[in-house]
Amino acid sequence: MIAIPRPLRLTFYSLLIIAGAVLAAAVAIRQAERQSLVDDAGRASQQLALYANSLHTLIERYRALPAVLALDSEMISALKGPLDPVTQDLLNHKLEKINGAAQSSTLELMDSTGLAVAASNWRLPSSYVGNNYAFRPYFIQTRSQGTGRFYAVGVTTGIPGYFLSSAVLDEHQQFIGAMVVKLEFPELEREWAQGNDLLLVSDARGIVFIANQPGWRYRNLRPLSETDRAELKATRQYDKKQLLPLGTRELQRFDENSHLMRVDGPQGSANYIWESLPLKAEGWTLHLLRKPQVAAEDQRNAGLAAAGLWLTLVFLLLFLTQRWRLARLRQRSREELEQLVQERTRALRTAQDGLVQSAKLAALGQMSAALAHEINQPLTAQRMQLATLRLLLEHGRVDDAYQALTPLDEMLTRMAALTGHLKTFARKSPSGLRERLDLSTVVDQALHLLDARLRDESIGTVLELTRPAWVRGDAIRLEQVLINLLRNALDAMADKPRKRLKICLRADQQLWQLTVSDSGGGIAEEHLGSVFDPFFTTKPVGDGLGLGLAVSYAIVHELGGHLSAGNLDDGAVFTLTLPIALETPDLC
Ligand code: ADP
Repeated sequence: MIAIPRPLRLTFYSLLIIAGAVLAAAVAIRQAERQSLVDDAGRASQQLALYANSLHTLIERYRALPAVLALDSEMISALKGPLDPVTQDLLNHKLEKINGAAQSSTLELMDSTGLAVAASNWRLPSSYVGNNYAFRPYFIQTRSQGTGRFYAVGVTTGIPGYFLSSAVLDEHQQFIGAMVVKLEFPELEREWAQGNDLLLVSDARGIVFIANQPGWRYRNLRPLSETDRAELKATRQYDKKQLLPLGTRELQRFDENSHLMRVDGPQGSANYIWESLPLKAEGWTLHLLRKPQVAAEDQRNAGLAAAGLWLTLVFLLLFLTQRWRLARLRQRSREELEQLVQERTRALRTAQDGLVQSAKLAALGQMSAALAHEINQPLTAQRMQLATLRLLLEHGRVDDAYQALTPLDEMLTRMAALTGHLKTFARKSPSGLRERLDLSTVVDQALHLLDARLRDESIGTVLELTRPAWVRGDAIRLEQVLINLLRNALDAMADKPRKRLKICLRADQQLWQLTVSDSGGGIAEEHLGSVFDPFFTTKPVGDGLGLGLAVSYAIVHELGGHLSAGNLDDGAVFTLTLPIALETPDLC
């Protein structure tokens, strides 16, 4: 596997995080945009319902007008017989008046052939009167169904409008003509034009015939079929008006009647929210087109929020991962450290056992020389004493001979004691031995072993021992500790004019405290921290091994005590503490 360098990896991750933030922002902006479109579409749809309502109300207002006028007796009788010019003139005036009162665009009366016999616009050049409109679907519908409705461009006037018609029937309910009202919507278109929205009304074929902005009228929203074209021609619905297709492309669909559309309108291409509402009664569809509002600030905020959230999440994740990794690392190093400590402790214990034994042997070697000297002297003395004894006995001086036996006896007892100690000292004691013993007697025995040296070197010894001082431990090992301390003190004082050794043993709270101080000049400040290190020695090669204090320290520690070194006046002081053993029966 190729190792990727760390800086490269960091750059890669940084780029990844930035890319994520950009992506999150882009998605949020897109989402905000979509949401604002959906909101806009919702609002537009509500608006559209209002517009539909106003259109519906307008038409409804006039729906009853032709039905009521169709019942007028004058109209009926005029249609029944041939029409004389006087009656026609009367009807024209009447329709003109009603049209003015009702505020409709035009009112006309047709006979059974579709001929306009009277009309409210009879005065105008574009008067309907005399024209035949039988081809218009509303006339055909009225004849067959009784009512008709049709939106068309007036073939005579050229003005588009909505024709609502009702059949005029004679007393036998026979069709004799039709009453027609024409509605035009310029008012409505003007009113609608005031808003910013684009409003269109399309017929069942998808042809826009009402629009509140110029250029949108007579556009077909769907392609026209051949049949459509033929019908349009026959009914002359949009007469001479040219129908142009309106190019639309759906960009997004919110629901069946709600879309985002690309529209090639008269003023060029633009996107529109396009809402449609079918007007069932008329068969028309009302459309509302609204340019989407670009809420740039909202989108920017959404983008920033998303990027911020993304970065927060990423950094939180990084932080948590880092913490988890650190915790794992700590746990692992703790475990490794514990294992290491256990291994070292085991190794040290083994090494320590070995050291105790070898230090004892080393001490034994050194001591043998002293002992040889110690034993030789009494032996020579004893030989002389024996010669004296023999002479005394030869001369029959039995009493004197008895007296001469006493020092001999003393000497032998001392020698026996010395060899006894040596025997115990050389023996390897089983580790972990914890007998209850008196520390002061251990001091006695150690002093006893070094008695010859103390005397030879004229050491002034001061003892302040509390007796008994019960501790729990191993007599031989403790004796070894004391011998080490005493020997070091003697070594330190070897070339000093004043030789003073002081040993104190006293209780301090739960501990026995034993101090060994000398006048050997003390330990150099820089050595104080190292004297307990194995193989640390300031003595000439051959004299010191540097093991004595290390072994002593280990022994004391093992017994639950403590050994420390310091300086006092003109020498060193070693302090040994051991827990006070309570007077409980020995378990061993
Ligand atoms: P060794 O006696 O073989 O040198 P130890 O471990 O017993 O080894 O002692 C280590 C060193 O501590 C000695 O070499 C000496 O420098 C110093 N030391 C120990 N006891 C004394 C003392 N009472 N006075 C001065 N120095 C001491």
